[in-house]
Amino acid sequence: MDLTLDKELEEFQQVFSRFCQEEIAPVAEQVEANGVNGTILEKLGKAGYLGLLHPESQGGQGASFLTAVMAQSILAYHCGSTFFSSGASAGLFGLPISHYGSDEQKARLIPELIAGAKIGCLAVTESSSGSDVASIQTSVYPDGSGKLILKGSKSYITNAPIADYALVLARYSRDPGKPSTGASGLTLVIVDLHADGVQRGAPLRKMGLRGSPTGELYFDDVSIAESCILEKPGAGFRQTMKAFDWERLSMGAYCVGVMQACLDESRNFARNRKSFGKMIAKHQSVAFMLADIKTRLEASRLLLFETAWLFDQADGAPRIEHNGESLDLSARASELKLMTSQYARECTNLAVQVHGGAGYMDEYKVSRLYRDIKIAEIGGGTSEIQKQIIARAESKRALRI
Ligand SMILES: Cc1cc2nc3c(=O)[nH]c(=O)nc-3n(C[C@H](O)[C@H](O)[C@H](O)COP(=O)(O)OP(=O)(O)OC[C@H]3O[C@@H](n4cnc5c(N)ncnc54)[C@H](O)[C@@H]3O)c2cc1C
Repeated sequence: MDLTLDKELEEFQQVFSRFCQEEIAPVAEQVEANGVNGTILEKLGKAGYLGLLHPESQGGQGASFLTAVMAQSILAYHCGSTFFSSGASAGLFGLPISHYGSDEQKARLIPELIAGAKIGCLAVTESSSGSDVASIQTSVYPDGSGKLILKGSKSYITNAPIADYALVLARYSRDPGKPSTGASGLTLVIVDLHADGVQRGAPLRKMGLRGSPTGELYFDDVSIAESCILEKPGAGFRQTMKAFDWERLSMGAYCVGVMQACLDESRNFARNRKSFGKMIAKHQSVAFMLADIKTRLEASRLLLFETAWLFDQADGAPRIEHNGESLDLSARASELKLMTSQYARECTNLAVQVHGGAGYMDEYKVSRLYRDIKIAEIGGGTSEIQKQIIARAESKRALRI
């Protein structure tokens, strides 16, 4: 087994790292204070980052998942908020459109999205439906004149306060008096957030990721064209689950970027800070904290790269034969997210500890990493939901053996 990066990937890594050092790192604190802005997204667009996973036919890079997770972990290293807002736009909103959209939808939306000129979001969660996606209540139905009516609300949506478009998961029925139940009928619709009847709540105040705006969306009998349905009515649950697989892969990349930042910040601090007449890195308990961060980082990076590579090999298929067994790739993405989010949270805790009181101060990056990381155990499905997915796949395997 050779896990060495090929020359092309190594060069890409260097170029994108340089871009992030020059364009993202210097403004990360500004983003924390004032929020992600269009200029940063446009720079990410120009650098090719937003289009990495989009096909070349739409102006994207047609890159591999391996290339994408590498770039994502580099961006996350420098700024979690920029990582999340760009991911919600080009990934959560953009990828389902690139994969399931009509030619007209792709041509209308993808080029501006991956240039960073327009911003998107994926709106699934509602105030009473988070983990239980199939219980959402937002509804969409034909009004009899060739249009659809969208009614309901969404909460905790990344980019809601700044987005131009949302991909909204809604319950489709021909007769509004007879709504569908469960996962059947769920449908993704593309909504212009500047349309009449759409309202946004104020950005929510959060524990972390303060530069990535999160908010509510309200749809008060919004009239949308039937051509805004993604693929077909009833396909929304399957499409959303696929989007979550990609999100979980990308969350693994986020965690790896954060762990690398924890290691670099802590190593640097431990080398320069002295106590009891010697650099703190020479106290065994501090050196052990660095060892714990490093070990979690290496294990996570390996799982991330292998999972991305498996996604590339599977080429969209839900399973792949690997080392003599049939792997369920959704379960693998859940394993990646479950493990890396726990490790990354532990690493941010260790990094703050290495810094002592300084780690509690906003001027040190580890303080931001610590506040930001908690989302990895919640967003894109909580750790408990990841365990359910993994356990379900394992029990099916047990029945087959
Ligand atoms: C910063 C941020 C950004 C977000 N961005 C988006 C976005 O862009 N788009 C979007 O649609 N959503 C977004 N979300 C919402 C996010 O996906 C949900 O918060 C998440 O899925 C959990 O749902 P919930 O908050 O309703 O928690 P709940 O579902 O109410 O869960 C509460 C607790 O109960 C546990 N639990 C629930 N059901 C079970 C079960 N069956 N078995 C065991 N334990 C269970 C959970 O694990 C959790 O510990 C965002 C959230 C945050 C915080």
